[in-house]
Formats: sequence, C-alpha cells, structure tokens
Amino acid sequence: MFRIYNTLTRTKDRLPQAQRGKPLRLFVCGPTVYDFSHIGHGRTYVVFDIIARALRARGLKLIYLQNITDIEDKIIARAQKDGVSWKKVARTFEHAYLADMAKLKISSPDIYARASDHIVEIIAQIKALLNKQYAYITSTGVYFSVERFKEYGKLSHQRLKQMKEAVRINPDPTKKHFADFALWKFAQQGEPWWPSPWGKGRPGWHIEDTAITHSRFGPQYEIHGSALDLIFPHHESEIAQAEAAFGKKPFVKLWMHSGFVNIRGEKMSKSLGNIITLREILDVWPAEVFRMFVARAHYRSPIDYDEDLLKDASQGLGRIEDFVERLGKTKPAKQKSGIEKQIRVFKKAFWDALEDDFHTPRALAAVFDFISYCNPFVEENKLQRSERKTVAAFLKEVDDIFGMLAPKRKRAEIPAHVIRLVQLREKMRLEKKFSEADAIRIQLTKEGWVIEDTSSGPRTKKARG
Ligand SMILES: [Zn+2]
Repeated sequence: MFRIYNTLTRTKDRLPQAQRGKPLRLFVCGPTVYDFSHIGHGRTYVVFDIIARALRARGLKLIYLQNITDIEDKIIARAQKDGVSWKKVARTFEHAYLADMAKLKISSPDIYARASDHIVEIIAQIKALLNKQYAYITSTGVYFSVERFKEYGKLSHQRLKQMKEAVRINPDPTKKHFADFALWKFAQQGEPWWPSPWGKGRPGWHIEDTAITHSRFGPQYEIHGSALDLIFPHHESEIAQAEAAFGKKPFVKLWMHSGFVNIRGEKMSKSLGNIITLREILDVWPAEVFRMFVARAHYRSPIDYDEDLLKDASQGLGRIEDFVERLGKTKPAKQKSGIEKQIRVFKKAFWDALEDDFHTPRALAAVFDFISYCNPFVEENKLQRSERKTVAAFLKEVDDIFGMLAPKRKRAEIPAHVIRLVQLREKMRLEKKFSEADAIRIQLTKEGWVIEDTSSGPRTKKARG
C-alpha cells in the first residue's frame, strides 16, 4: 500500500482511492513554453514519470494530464524581444519540450492540454467566481479576492495576515489586497487578447490549470504534482479558485512536490546565469543516465548538481547492464538452485521502498543487492532456465518503472574536459568574447572534435577521418 507525503497535511497519507470504476487522476503542472527546459524541469518530469509508471506497475489505472502554459507574460516578453508572434514562441518551445521529453523516455502522460485551447472554460470559471463575489473587476483586469477565501494559505501553511507584502508577484495599484491575483488581464497595446464579457485580454496563470483540470477531471481529483517552487502562490491559488468556484472540498486530495536541482547550492536562474539545459546534458549523456541520476535521489530531496553525479549514475547503470548481458549468456543448469525464494525477498524490499513515498534510492539499493546476490549463480551457470527467467523478469519490472536500460546504450564518449571546453566556449560566445571562443574551438579541433552551433546550443562530434 502506497504512503505518500502530502504537502497539504504534512504527513505520509495513503494513496487516495479513485472513484468507483474510474482511473486515478494525476495532474502535473507542465512548462511555460518560452525557453528550453533545464535540468530542474527534466528532474521534475522524470520523477513524475517514474511515479506514474510505479502506480501502473502496481495494477492501478491512472490518467495523467499535463498542461502546456502557452499564454503567459514571459512568452509575450520573449516574443517582443525576438520580434516574433507569441504563438511562434509558444509553439517553438512546446515542440522543443516534447522533443526533450521523448528523448528522456517520458512515456506516462496521457494528455497534454494547452491553455489557449481552454479560453471558454477559463471565462466560465471567472464568471462563476464573479457571481459568487470571490472576484472583482478593476481597470487592469479581473482579480481573485484572497480575503474572501478564508482558507487562503492552507497549502503553504501560512496565514494571510502574516504574508509579507514582499511576496507580491504583480504589484498593481488597483488591487484590494496585495496578494489578490489576476484571473483575467486586460490587453495592453500589442499584446495578444481574446474577447471576454469584461473586455479584451488574456487569462492569469493559475486559472489556466483549474480550467483545464475542471474540463478533463471535474471539480475534484486525486493527485496534483509539480516542483516545490509552485506551492505558493500557484497551487495555493488553484485551491482558492477551484474550491470557491465549485463549492467542493478538497479540490485535490494529495499534493506532491519534488525538490530542486541546485548548482553549487544555488537555485538555477537566468539572473545567476547558471542554467544548464536538458539539451546540453542529453547531447553528452544518454537519457538512461539522466534518469538514473534522478532516481538515485529521493524525489523530495534537493540535488546539488555535479557532473560526478552523472558519472556515478553511469557507473551504476553499467553494473546493471553488465549483469543483464552476462545473464543472457549463461548456460542453463539442470537442477534448481533455489534462488527464487531469495528473489522474492529482494522484490519485496524493492516494492516496500517504492510504496514508502516512492523511495527510489532504497528501491535501487534493493536492485543492487539482488544483483550482488545473483552474481555467483550467473558466473557459475547455476540457474535453471525458469530461474533465469525469474531473474530477467524482475529486471524488466524494474526497467518498466525506471526506464534506464537501453538495449545497446550509447555510452558517453566525450571526455569531461572536452565538455567543459565546449561549455566555456559557449559562455564566451554569449559574452561576445569571440576571439576567446574561437581559440577554444581551434584547440578542440586539434584534439579531433567538431563543434556545431545549432539553434538549441552547441553539439559536439568526433571529427571524421
Ligand atoms: Zn500549474
């Protein structure tokens, strides 16, 4: 039985029951598509992919929905900066996002839903909030009144009175309370807009998600996930909107939040200039290594990124792959070795770990213990045909969840110092230090490496001949 940490109750709760005959409903906040995904995003989506796969492997029916935030201030800002339409920006980076997810072997989401395809539902929800006097209209937009929703703060465990004015996201003098958030923003000159009963404009961020989940799942559902930076104000505001508009509690039974990937103890951010994109990593490391890197940490713990962690993940993976390869080459024994009883013990440890708040590091430890235990039997050809099958079946069960075995994994072939030089050169280029960048390129060419500058960043290849 799964027990899962719930941000709302701050305890490990039982997995919520699905409605009779219905699948369990999981919603995870998708990307705002205005730039390439970084390794923090990669972690979040691998985490929830593993979680969804584990639930399904336990025989649970699950429907996994993700939104695509394709209309938002950051997208508009990027479009204005690049001199293209918001739609061009949104579709370009949605495409890039889905390509990254495919490369990462993310296979569990059933539906990706764009905000811009749900404007009708968004307007209906704002109407309901206005009718119930949870919202008001000003000269800049329609706002949710947090003082009207008495439980505002229950997810992030803070009281409205104690919220600091510093948390305000969009200072707007027309709002009644600094924490009131936009449901509808009236269009400024040159901004995209849709018609509404209140005037031309676009939806606020939080209402996009509740409109999408309401249209696909109804007023209540079981699990909402994302990284922990979205707890406040995003998820807090989702709860306020949904419970106020539909009058049903709780909006979501289980709130799951995954930890950050930090760089030398700092959060990745544009202003710090320390963002590592998924593409940079996946150009060098196989997706399986990245998945292993994610699974080696508990999903709620922070990861302090270090290239050595990828190397360690790659080595661990190598052990599993070597074992699979050797297992395939064993000659079947005539007699049973009696290994099956012991396999059940490892399997139990594996599932106990996953059912305990998806403790993937402990589950992986059980897999490595299992491999160590089986090794001598494999070395000495002591496994009967059916026993070999049992061993292989368990490894398949593991891989169905973790997705970290590739039939012929392409190993990382680019040496670490070359990767660092490529990154350094890219940094120089971005800082417009072109002669330094060129010097690095010449050095790399001497060592037999070709750098191609693509729209998604530099690609490193071995020179031919
Ligand atoms: Zn969201």
